Amino acid sequence: MLQDNAGNEAGTNMNQTNQQPAGDGSSSLMRLQASTPELEDGHEEQVREPAPMSLADLSRKYPSTFVLSGSKGQREVAMTFDDAPDAVFTPLVLDALKKAGVKATFFCVGNRIEAHPDVMRRIVAEGHVVGNHSYSHPNLPKLSDARFREEIQKTDKLIKAYTGYAPSFIRPPYGNITEEQIKWLASQHRRVVNWNVDSLDWKNLNREQVAVNVLAHIGPGAIILQHSGGGVGQDLTGTVQAVPEIVAKLRQDGVRFVTIPGMLGIPQ
Ligand SMILES: [Zn+2]
Repeated sequence: MLQDNAGNEAGTNMNQTNQQPAGDGSSSLMRLQASTPELEDGHEEQVREPAPMSLADLSRKYPSTFVLSGSKGQREVAMTFDDAPDAVFTPLVLDALKKAGVKATFFCVGNRIEAHPDVMRRIVAEGHVVGNHSYSHPNLPKLSDARFREEIQKTDKLIKAYTGYAPSFIRPPYGNITEEQIKWLASQHRRVVNWNVDSLDWKNLNREQVAVNVLAHIGPGAIILQHSGGGVGQDLTGTVQAVPEIVAKLRQDGVRFVTIPGMLGIPQ
């Protein structure tokens, strides 16, 4: 079962019919976005491709290290936001989560932590959990061993300065990682945490499209992928606006919202 496939088809259709213009086009928004370092290997849509070994294969081969979801026996889900912090969308996501009373997990990029220390402080102060999403957001399979480890360790240090701990879990940019890299992380007692429900919000989808992508594929133990940091020209307004609807609908069904460590029973 690869949620990615279903999600991708749905997202492509919706993207064709309903794509919204990016941002409000104001120069102040563009300036704010320009203050956030670009993702080294580009936006999701420029890099995402079927991995040589599928996520489901890796999860079967390394069940304790490579995680796509939590226990199917628990009525709980985890909202996760990648590519934080930025100056535009991360604060809006934080506002929406605060209003909804949900603690989420933010996968932070090292050079963006350096660029937006105040937003990083806010993520931590508001009780959210932080995971490592590399330093410059490269496509990890392309890196040498030394460069791969540097990407992880440099970001560990940056996160620790805010949280007091280096996160026990990592999400590779684009979800891409090699078996060798997984083995090294396992030797460091780290986990790789991807997702099994993809909002496809990086396609500049609107509120309704993001909510449908999440709610149509949700199940117990789901790890939901959203983004709270965009590149220049990327509009994540839809994902921000979808938060209240996703939370309300799932709560009606008796679903609890948990962080990744809470879901997996692992340290922060
Ligand atoms: Zn990312």
